[in-house]
Amino acid sequence: MKVIVIGGGPAGMMAAIQSAKNGNDVTLLERMRTPGRKLAITGKGRGNLTNNIDISDFIKNVPGNGKFLYSAFNQFTNRDLISYFNSLGVETKVERGERVFPVADTAMSLVNALKKELSRYNVNIKTNSLVKDILVNNSKSIVGVKLESGETIECDRVILATGGKSYSMTGSDGTGYTLAQKLGHTIVEPRGSLVPLETYEKYDLQGLSLKNVSIKVLDGSKEIYDDFGEMLFTHFGVSGPIILSSSAHILRIKNIEEKFKNKSIKIVIDLKPALSFEKLSQRIQRDFEKFTKKQFKNSLVDLLPAKMIPVIINLSKIDSSKQVDQITKEERERLVKLLKEFEVTVKKFRPIEEAIVTAGGVSTKEINPQTMESKLISGLYFAGEIIDVDAYTGGFNLQIAFSTGYVAGQLL
Ligand SMILES: Cc1cc2nc3c(=O)[nH]c(=O)nc-3n(C[C@H](O)[C@H](O)[C@H](O)COP(=O)(O)OP(=O)(O)OC[C@H]3O[C@@H](n4cnc5c(N)ncnc54)[C@H](O)[C@@H]3O)c2cc1C
Repeated sequence: MKVIVIGGGPAGMMAAIQSAKNGNDVTLLERMRTPGRKLAITGKGRGNLTNNIDISDFIKNVPGNGKFLYSAFNQFTNRDLISYFNSLGVETKVERGERVFPVADTAMSLVNALKKELSRYNVNIKTNSLVKDILVNNSKSIVGVKLESGETIECDRVILATGGKSYSMTGSDGTGYTLAQKLGHTIVEPRGSLVPLETYEKYDLQGLSLKNVSIKVLDGSKEIYDDFGEMLFTHFGVSGPIILSSSAHILRIKNIEEKFKNKSIKIVIDLKPALSFEKLSQRIQRDFEKFTKKQFKNSLVDLLPAKMIPVIINLSKIDSSKQVDQITKEERERLVKLLKEFEVTVKKFRPIEEAIVTAGGVSTKEINPQTMESKLISGLYFAGEIIDVDAYTGGFNLQIAFSTGYVAGQLL
């Protein structure tokens, strides 16, 4: 059979390799100069390809239509993916949070291994080839594709793997949604997930990265999420791993735009999670004894990063020039509370362009979960982020791309 795969991301490359392995004549069409641009920047360039938890726990990490992926995850599991890359010479290791990375610490090793496989199975790779239309006959069966250049290519099957809508310089700009929509598919509104957050407060903390903090996300008085790890202050608000993860939960709050406007979504940051209120108070007391004749503004150097000190002093409402031994117990307790419950109010999500993944996409209701074939067009398959699924950070999104790519490539 003649197969065309549209999109050379992890999903498309895996689908092309599998369908070529099964004896088909496969062409991979990629609009960019080279496939795998987004894969190459994953995991800060280190490629967090999957997660090492049991595959049965994967669905819990996919808040967007996780159940739809049950069959795909089981047909090609995380262990299968790890063994696959190992067999291609990419050794892997497991890090914090069971995240799996190449030992070489480079996502390019994943891209290169897949490219080698594509060539081993004689997949015809056509780059700089933007697909404008998927062609079907009167009985709604695939007959070919049309490129932006005007060229048409005939085929029997199409696997659509054009990704989401973020980081468009990697090639995924949402044109795939239009291709699917033209054939009658429903597109669930694409929205950015794993996305930085703008806050109402504009503290002068830009560039400050905090490694071991815990956060709680509040919707009014209700706690909807907590996490521990690394976060970052930016010129617009907050970012970094635990903030990105929290965005996937905030995204799912009903009437979120209204709640942003009402300032009811707060992130409470515990800057000293290893110490209870009492222990932190004792710790500050010890620091105050050490700096007893100094001014308050010079007494926090052991406790906080330099950039944070003026902000905390300002919020504490303690006179910065007050001599430390004059600080009252009440003032000290206020300082403790501030460090344990440093609050920011979320104003909005950053634009989808800055999101790690796209929630929304081709409706899962119109795709057969066992085969990834369209329920509307015979011979059309979907793979990867174009589908209305999205997961948390930790390697789950790439596993989705590889599992669905594997299944689509079987062309069942
Ligand atoms: C900065 C960043 C870091 C990330 N880190 C991780 C991580 O560590 N672990 C993890 O699990 N996930 C990570 N992700 C998410 C992960 O990269 C994506 O979920 C994954 O790449 C989706 O794969 P895909 O093949 O579906 O789509 P993509 O990788 O987006 O590939 C789609 C391809 O289709 C091509 N294309 C689009 N439209 C057309 C068209 N009309 N014609 C021809 N070609 C077209 C594009 O050029 C692109 O090459 C990260 C994402 C980003 C942005």
